[in-house]
Amino acid sequence: MLRFACGWVLTLSGLMGCMSAAPPRQPQLRLADAAPAQASEPASARTCEGDTPCEDGTPSPLPAPPDPGAPTLEAIEDTEEPIEDELETPAQEETAESKTVVHPWAQLSDAELERKLLDDPSSAGSMSVGRTNGGMLINGVRMPEGERWTLIDPAHAWGTQETIDALTTCIDAVHRQYPDSPKMEIGHISARGGGHLSPHRSHQAGRDVDVSYYYTKSTRWFTRANAGNLDRARTWAFVRALIAETDVEMILIDSGLQRLLREYALEIGEDAAWVDDIFRGVRGKHPAMIRHARGHATHIHVRFYSPIAQETARRAHALLVKHGKVKPPLTYVMHRARKGDTLGRLANKYGTTVEAIQRANGLRNTVIRAKRTYRIPQKGSVRPASGRPIVVPPRRLPPHAPTNLSTQAASTAPAPPETK
Ligand SMILES: [Zn+2]
Repeated sequence: MLRFACGWVLTLSGLMGCMSAAPPRQPQLRLADAAPAQASEPASARTCEGDTPCEDGTPSPLPAPPDPGAPTLEAIEDTEEPIEDELETPAQEETAESKTVVHPWAQLSDAELERKLLDDPSSAGSMSVGRTNGGMLINGVRMPEGERWTLIDPAHAWGTQETIDALTTCIDAVHRQYPDSPKMEIGHISARGGGHLSPHRSHQAGRDVDVSYYYTKSTRWFTRANAGNLDRARTWAFVRALIAETDVEMILIDSGLQRLLREYALEIGEDAAWVDDIFRGVRGKHPAMIRHARGHATHIHVRFYSPIAQETARRAHALLVKHGKVKPPLTYVMHRARKGDTLGRLANKYGTTVEAIQRANGLRNTVIRAKRTYRIPQKGSVRPASGRPIVVPPRRLPPHAPTNLSTQAASTAPAPPETK
């Protein structure tokens, strides 16, 4: 896989370096069963029941029920609301600076591509299908165990090869600068086949990653960061690497913590205009790279571009569905439960199974509640691939290294980890 990837021709600066620097990792290619139970394009199939107002075509924030069946990410078990991680970056217009990925399949006609996929589906590598708020992951790669990080929920740490490589690159960058760094904690990336992953609204296509902040003392996953415990130097080194060394789409950080990081960046002599650009954006040009969303004082949410995996999906997904190599994506009907509804009755009504409804809603038992809205999976038609290749905006590179770093670094060594 890696050998294959490195042979690809890219015009995207830096991606090659990123890939070739990464140690070989074996993705598990199990194409035929890679389709998730619930890849979704919910908007197109919404219908309304009872007194639910229907806004046709508008993807709704899901009024998801509390999710007792969610993976055991300790501190979020109590979460009533889905995590607000669904922000979307406006579609990128191609500019003179934009870098279009030259995919290894660029020269293949559709017929050649189809033959190649049928001969050896695994040769396609990772595919990030659709949107991160309604998509799926094919041929995902699980984040490996590593000495520099801890996987909080390994079963939901699947991403594109590019996501895994980019994340590794940035953690390595922190250790290059601060060799005695503690482990970063890595939460959800995506489910093996992508699709809905409670309690998130995104994390569906192998490009979203939740990671811990770096702290000045040993803490548990999902500890709220603040001025007293945030390791500003290491967290900044990580964020800086995301922006300078990877194709990151956006970074969600609580605004209070943004202030601390911004102050730190200026203190160590980062270029002020560049700092403004990434924290505030440039009006009329592009939004801030680092954005606030509720719920992100306990972890950083990173969304990467995966230009190869997104382009692969754009060209290959419909062909794979056509030939039965992956299951067709599902769409959802939103059903507002009424008194007397049972899962069995809903399964009957919509031609699905109790288990499928449980899975789509993260239900551990068969209890449903009146006036609550449930997602009912429906077989949907395949969405035709969009015509244009993905455009990755140019990286916002800092014009120079921090000018005052050495004096800061000495004061930020973390306390030795406490025994748990
Ligand atoms: Zn997230």
